Amino acid sequence: MNKMDDQDLGFSTRAIHAGQAPDATTGAVMTPIYQTSTYAQHTPGALYAGGYEYSRTGNPTRAALETNLAALEKANHGLCFSSGCAALATLLHVLKAGDHVVVGDDVYGGTFRLFDKVFKQLEIQFTQVDFTNMSHLQAAIKNNTKLVWTETPTNPMLKIIDIAETVKTVKKINPHILVAVDNTFATPYLQNPLSMGADIVCHSTTKYLGGHSDVIGGVLLFNDKALYEQIKFLQNAIGAVPAPQDCFLLLRSTKTLSLRMQRHCENARQIAEFLEHHPKIEKVIYPGLKSHPQHALAAAQMKDFGGMMSIYLKGNQQATFAFLQQLNFFTLGESLGGVESLCGHPASMTHAAIPVEQRQTFGIEDNLVRLSVGIEDVQDLIADLTQALQRI
Ligand SMILES: *Cc1c(COP(=O)(O)O)cnc(C)c1O
Repeated sequence: MNKMDDQDLGFSTRAIHAGQAPDATTGAVMTPIYQTSTYAQHTPGALYAGGYEYSRTGNPTRAALETNLAALEKANHGLCFSSGCAALATLLHVLKAGDHVVVGDDVYGGTFRLFDKVFKQLEIQFTQVDFTNMSHLQAAIKNNTKLVWTETPTNPMLKIIDIAETVKTVKKINPHILVAVDNTFATPYLQNPLSMGADIVCHSTTKYLGGHSDVIGGVLLFNDKALYEQIKFLQNAIGAVPAPQDCFLLLRSTKTLSLRMQRHCENARQIAEFLEHHPKIEKVIYPGLKSHPQHALAAAQMKDFGGMMSIYLKGNQQATFAFLQQLNFFTLGESLGGVESLCGHPASMTHAAIPVEQRQTFGIEDNLVRLSVGIEDVQDLIADLTQALQRI
């Protein structure tokens, strides 16, 4: 192993160096963007050093990113994809018709859609349960269950799922069931699910890992070699791979992940504390607040509490829309995890694909707003929220 890829190094050192030794031929400090689809061969099948033959199968910029992200999650292997959904869809192809999956009840809307509208047609069964209650999870596991899929913190209700307990519960019933954690909200800076026993970690790299709202991407990370080989085969066979330029942008982004996350967490904490006492706010859901029902679990499982929060305004949908329109520094938009603050209305945006009755049982009401707190100066963000709340 390259000394730059040592998993015992600190997070920021791994972020800056893993997978990114200076270029062997030129000494370039930044990994080149290998904008090539194919590679010359000396004689048929005799490849150049590096062993590349075609960029769907492998590309040096992508390989650097896969090594880098694996180092951040303390994983042995990583595979990158053209989006978070492409990563999940590729993973689901390890399943066969008749297999069963247990999924968290308030997973990302696009994840639900992929299960409900695409893989159900291929006769993959799935059951949604609340993973904060291990007896529900236990009861949902069947003889044909092959995969358990969870997110923590969840979106947009920011429930905290106990990863170690989830793994323990599932493996006790059947050690062959794969446990996958979508770690997009927490990032590897805040928690490493593989270290807690999970088999697979997934990220939408579009979010905090990219961090600048300019790339769509996804990654799967594993320790098990056989699982890695199986999904590497699918990565090439299906072909939803990221472009070299996007891999370069992600390599550039992860270098500042720890700095960004520190500021995201600090800003979010101050905003959550401010909003919790505001007369126009009914409730703030933020794992860092003592009022969060799983604050203690969050404190034990995560290094800090992240940059995402959900708030219920005192008002109806109209008042909520007025608030969203009035904000200047929280741009109304899909996505999260960028340096700029964003706000969203889950009921009509990210979770619109979920039937209304089901949405409401999760707590996704018309007065619910999700904030992705950016890394601007926090006093400006608080002033912006203050003026927007005055208008409702
Ligand atoms: C955005 C997101 C996804 C999907 O990722 P894309 O890059 O948009 O395809 C999956 N899970 C979570 C938690 C997300 O936030």
